[in-house]
Amino acid sequence: MDTIEIRGNAIAEKVYVECLQELQVLKAQGHLPGLAVVLVGDDPASRAYVGSKERKCQELGLHSVKIELPEDATQEVLIAQIEKLNADPAIHGILVQLPLPSHLDEDAVIMKISPAKDVDGLHPINIGKLAMDDATGFAPCTPLGCQRMLIENGMGISGKKVVIIGRSLLVGKSLGLLLLQKGEGGNATVTIAHSRTENLAQVASEADILVAAIGRPGFVTEDFIKDGAVVIDVGINRVDDASAKRGYRLVGDVDFAKVAPKCAAITPVPGGVGVMTIAMLMANTIRACRMAEEGEARN
Ligand code: NAP
Repeated sequence: MDTIEIRGNAIAEKVYVECLQELQVLKAQGHLPGLAVVLVGDDPASRAYVGSKERKCQELGLHSVKIELPEDATQEVLIAQIEKLNADPAIHGILVQLPLPSHLDEDAVIMKISPAKDVDGLHPINIGKLAMDDATGFAPCTPLGCQRMLIENGMGISGKKVVIIGRSLLVGKSLGLLLLQKGEGGNATVTIAHSRTENLAQVASEADILVAAIGRPGFVTEDFIKDGAVVIDVGINRVDDASAKRGYRLVGDVDFAKVAPKCAAITPVPGGVGVMTIAMLMANTIRACRMAEEGEARN
């Protein structure tokens, strides 16, 4: 089978072109979207993600603020910081880089972010809006990126049987809600599988579109795949590799070599979903600015 590789970079570039167009309009009206990223502690992966977000803001010309707090920052200090950002009119999007150190209560922190600035889409108000097909909310960025890849791939979502392995709010569950919504990019028949799902390979092999968001390298093998399926690999896993400069390489949740020959289309890792997450964060931040300014204009 001639398998299409759905590459994130080309699709992310399209999203950035749209972002720049909207940014031009906003700037002409005197508005500059601002994103604040809050990093607690010194986890190298989190620091790298925050760095990429900051660089992309600079490249596009968004206002960007990085707040760094020490590993032992208290819940009170973190929440005080969020409240300050909530009140700052130059900031339209707030992202708290997860995971937080274990002494901090992530849910309580997310609850403190103003839903109108919650560009990561994890506040209960935004998750509720996602469930209610209310387009005024923000959906989480990785699911939005996966949906956009499926739309751009052009093989259709409406009416298709989608199986998502993974039920986190950050990825699996939210993507399920997004693809289930009525309207463009939705109308799928969605199954969400997880570690307790029985006969997982059998369930997965019924999918027209299979999404893996598990966090286990190479977990999805060819027996999970229906011939001609579209496969989206969200997983980003480090595996030791003495031949690599950094001593490790990144692999997905899908065993690409075994699975790709059976698929109509598949996303690679790296080079697939990863770059889409930042693109959708930029898009959400610009939309947050537009919505804030329209709200201001109405008041
Ligand atoms: P998570 O919160 O750990 O959730 C993992 C999910 O996989 C859980 O629902 C878990 O089931 C399920 N699972 C684990 N082992 C399983 C098994 N043996 N069989 C079936 N299901 C199993 O992880 P996450 O935050 O959703 O992230 C998933 C992956 O995506 C990770 O590799 C992460 O690095 C990656 N990721 C990538 C991006 C990106 O930008 N590309 C963004 C976010 C995450 P239970 O609920 O039953 O435990």
